[in-house]
Amino acid sequence: MASSECLFCSIVAGEIPADIIYESDSVIAFRDIDPQAPTHVLIIPRHHIATINDLEESDAERVGRLFLAAREIAKQEGFEETGYRTVMNCNADAGQTVFHIHLHLLGGRELSWPPG
Ligand code: 5GP
Ligand code: ZN
Repeated sequence: MASSECLFCSIVAGEIPADIIYESDSVIAFRDIDPQAPTHVLIIPRHHIATINDLEESDAERVGRLFLAAREIAKQEGFEETGYRTVMNCNADAGQTVFHIHLHLLGGRELSWPPG
């Protein structure tokens, strides 16, 4: 898929509205439209990468920045000590539906394990 047809690239470009709660040079984060926990945030690189399988060596810092954003947002949301989960789905069996990598950040309730 060309990045011009990508939903999350459209959010990065400001063409589609989103409840953006965190922005940096390389990352934005916004609330999931269908939250699965009291806090459910999607943390994405501004740069289009379709799946984990498409990562290149040069993306290493970009991916690290997703986790640093997760840490900051967990602090903002007040559950950094009680706990939270980060998840990145890859392809069909994991349920990936948007093909621009995104780190789910879920918190604000006790989360069961293993996931379904
Ligand atoms: P995936 O299933 O690919 O891991 O996660 C995609 C996530 O994107 C889902 O949790 C879904 O609710 C969320 N999502 C899909 N479309 C939109 C949208 O237009 N805006 C926002 N904020 N979230 C979306
Ligand atoms: Zn994209």
